[in-house]
Amino acid sequence: MTDKYAVFGNPIAQSKSPYIHTEFAKQTQQTMSYQAILAPVDQFSQSLMAFFTAGGKGANVTAPFKEQAFAACDELSDLAKLAGAVNTLIYLPDGRIRGDNTDGIGLVTDVIQHFGDIAGKRLLLVGAGGAARGCIKPLLQAGVKLTICNRTFSKAQNLAELFIEFGDVTAKPIYELDSPFDLIVNSTSAGLAGELITLPSSIINSATQCYDMSYGAEVTLFNQWALSQGADQVADGLGMLVGQAAQSFSIWRGVMPKTQVVHDTLRAQLS
Ligand code: NDP
Repeated sequence: MTDKYAVFGNPIAQSKSPYIHTEFAKQTQQTMSYQAILAPVDQFSQSLMAFFTAGGKGANVTAPFKEQAFAACDELSDLAKLAGAVNTLIYLPDGRIRGDNTDGIGLVTDVIQHFGDIAGKRLLLVGAGGAARGCIKPLLQAGVKLTICNRTFSKAQNLAELFIEFGDVTAKPIYELDSPFDLIVNSTSAGLAGELITLPSSIINSATQCYDMSYGAEVTLFNQWALSQGADQVADGLGMLVGQAAQSFSIWRGVMPKTQVVHDTLRAQLS
């Protein structure tokens, strides 16, 4: 029988995950299906359980359900526990649900792919929402010296305190940022709303590498700003998307797919 997987979100029509996982399955010769499910905003757990009890083996979860998915789990990976959010669910044979978070590994893998080794680099993480939270431990494990800033400073402070045991991490108010970073990662959702975050130009020089978790057909607003401030190297979050999907796929199927061809095809489709 074909093993069934799905991604849950609201909205979900824009999701690239069915395409990505179908390509991974072909590439690794796995017999499985993968569909997008639009869960009503107030009925995520009912939709999820209906899928699992009908034979679903695993699921991805996207906005706005990552925290609800966390709450629905009977067991959690260490990364999911720290992130407080889950993007990968496994329906265990005994009926329990296990949750994991693959966003951070997807980010770190893609940042290294674009910019090379990040150990020892001074990295500014802009934003302190769910995506930021999922990425902090993998970033610290990769050896960065991390500064977190956020429009709502208290959230950046909370995250710095939460992750201090895993490495060199501190929070700074945006108005106190005054010197260039080696690497800046934008994890805010400002670009989705067509808004540009306000950051001082002193944090960028030509050597600063800039990564925006958002992606699209055009250069993202944050990366446009970074380029206009003199940054030479920018990358968007399409590779993170494919990378987190590859991690999920490997958790479910025990085989790690290759990501480059899928990434390149998606990039061509976007433009
Ligand atoms: P959350 O809603 O949890 O967090 C949003 C963050 O953005 C908060 O820090 C918020 O600040 C900040 N923010 C929103 N609007 C503005 C603004 N106008 N100016 C300054 N800061 C702002 O979202 P997520 O963390 O889940 O997602 C963040 C982004 O990451 C999204 O664009 C999402 O698409 C992307 N993402 C990409 C992935 C990929 O695979 N490429 C995977 C996961 C996420 P405040 O706390 O002050 O409200």
